[in-house]
Amino acid sequence: MDAVRTIRSKRDGRRLERQELFDFVAGYARGEIPDYQASALLMAIFFRGLDPEETADLTQAILRSGSVVDLSEFSGPKVDKHSTGGVGDKTSLIVAPAAAAGGLLVPMISGRGLGHTGGTLDKLESIPGFRTRLTLDEFRRALRNTGAALIGQTDDLAPADRKLYALRDVTGTVESIALISASIMSKKLAEGIDALVLDVKTGSGAFMKTPESARELARRMVEIGAGCGKRVRALITGMSQPLGRAVGNGLEVVEVLETLKGRGPQDLVEVSRELTAHMFLLGGLESTLEAARGRFDGVLASGAALRKFGEIVEEQGGDGGVVEDYARLPRAEHEESVAAWQDGYICALEAEALGRASMRLGAGRERVDSVIDPAVGVVLEKKVGDAVVAGERICAIYANNRAPLAEVRAAIRAAVRISEEPCPPPPLILEDIS
Ligand code: URA
Repeated sequence: MDAVRTIRSKRDGRRLERQELFDFVAGYARGEIPDYQASALLMAIFFRGLDPEETADLTQAILRSGSVVDLSEFSGPKVDKHSTGGVGDKTSLIVAPAAAAGGLLVPMISGRGLGHTGGTLDKLESIPGFRTRLTLDEFRRALRNTGAALIGQTDDLAPADRKLYALRDVTGTVESIALISASIMSKKLAEGIDALVLDVKTGSGAFMKTPESARELARRMVEIGAGCGKRVRALITGMSQPLGRAVGNGLEVVEVLETLKGRGPQDLVEVSRELTAHMFLLGGLESTLEAARGRFDGVLASGAALRKFGEIVEEQGGDGGVVEDYARLPRAEHEESVAAWQDGYICALEAEALGRASMRLGAGRERVDSVIDPAVGVVLEKKVGDAVVAGERICAIYANNRAPLAEVRAAIRAAVRISEEPCPPPPLILEDIS
């Protein structure tokens, strides 16, 4: 293949043919095309973009670099949910058991946190014994036994994406709608699903800072899915403040369990409910959104979703006792507070800054090889719109290391705005794109 010709074509703003993209990705995955040529093409794509057809072709090229999970033994609807990532976003841990308890098969392949955003695998691994590295045979067995399995990326699913993503990370080419869409969708299509619900976040804590860019990413991913014969729907949801109250892995698991027991924070419950309801609709288990929401409410109220969570944990080697005994989760040594410095109303809790503060405590990764502390993080006692009086606790900090505490407290104070005028909570579900 003539890699230079492909790079020049995109550099000069021409469309790439399907075969060119297939040859380039396959050549790169096999190690025949060096990083410097792949970097040049990524940068050309970053500036010139890809049209929807090229994006779909790139997705297929990445998908074909590996295998697709064979779930043909399962007759029921196989539906997953994917979030573009945020702060305090623990919906996967609620949606997966709720959807499975409601009758769907949920083959969920998730990622780890990086920078200010958290990752589903890190949250699950705060449960003692929980294994997220399953072989594909173990993955299928877990699906057979419980109806849902939550695992990490395996070597044979979209391997070109792993290589390309690592290269994008060090060449300043992550923030491209075409590249993000192809990266996410290639991995999701490799799961062998029938349908997918996407949670595209927008706001300071999200990849897509504006609703316009979130809408464009959502549209592109929905189109790719439709082009591959899958039912895909995207919800655009707010990420200007953390979702729920807990930010930090073990702390988020506690919040998940409280939510499954019917005591969750309103915003987390609402987003989880909408995502699961759309999964029920796409899976054909309900024909109206109202009925689908009712199915979610039913599995929560009956305790079926909570029991399903315990089953999934035990199936994947974890300590199911955490469901009733939170003391089995890792606990931080120190607890501190950030208190309100004046009376008023909370007007902002900057998600990105709070995610970074939590990362500084050890809850997230500064670099891909950073080690996570599952016990630490922050828990917000106030959310945007709440009234506060001076001296009242806004946020609890859980730490194992005192060294970064002064810096973290200052960062949290800077992330909070208190106004004398009431502030409405930011919109939670902005749009539904299908
Ligand atoms: N998540 C992915 O999997 N890929 C991207 O490119 C961005 C976020």
